[in-house]
Amino acid sequence: MIIRKLFKFEGAHVVRNCSSVRCRENIHGHSYVVEVFIESDRLDRGYMVMDFTLLDRVKLLVDSFDHTYSLWEGEPDDFKAFIRRYNRRVAEIPVSPSAEGYALLFFYLIDRVLLHTDFRNGESGVRLRAVRVHETATGYAEASRDDLALVRFTAADVRFSPGVRADWDGEEWWDALNR
Ligand SMILES: [Zn+2]
Repeated sequence: MIIRKLFKFEGAHVVRNCSSVRCRENIHGHSYVVEVFIESDRLDRGYMVMDFTLLDRVKLLVDSFDHTYSLWEGEPDDFKAFIRRYNRRVAEIPVSPSAEGYALLFFYLIDRVLLHTDFRNGESGVRLRAVRVHETATGYAEASRDDLALVRFTAADVRFSPGVRADWDGEEWWDALNR
């Protein structure tokens, strides 16, 4: 069976090197919708693949991008310095913040979150199937496991500013993603 949970964030970015001049040469934002598809061929004791309340760290992860500037590591140093200086909430990421980049990034990170989720209600074989990131009302990108071959990064390549981390109730959950 497949279950799906929807998350939202308001994010700011520039997508360098894309075809659209508006997108590649202007800081702008979108109201993102992130759909997380999780599957299992078994059910827990509540006849669920897993309870959505167990996705609280996924919610926190997506919320870490809310009202946050997503800063691609490929930006020039002077631009990075400007963003860091004038924004409290910055996520430094190893992929360009296109919908495709976000989908790959979220797939990788949410997969790690699920790996470290403490299942105690008979859940079994819970797997992340896909992550779909809607940048607008009419377009989305979807990543699944095979698509990770397109990129190479780890959670250590994602760095949230102190202004983002201040909203966390601790750093353990994030540090765990690198183990
Ligand atoms: Zn955009």
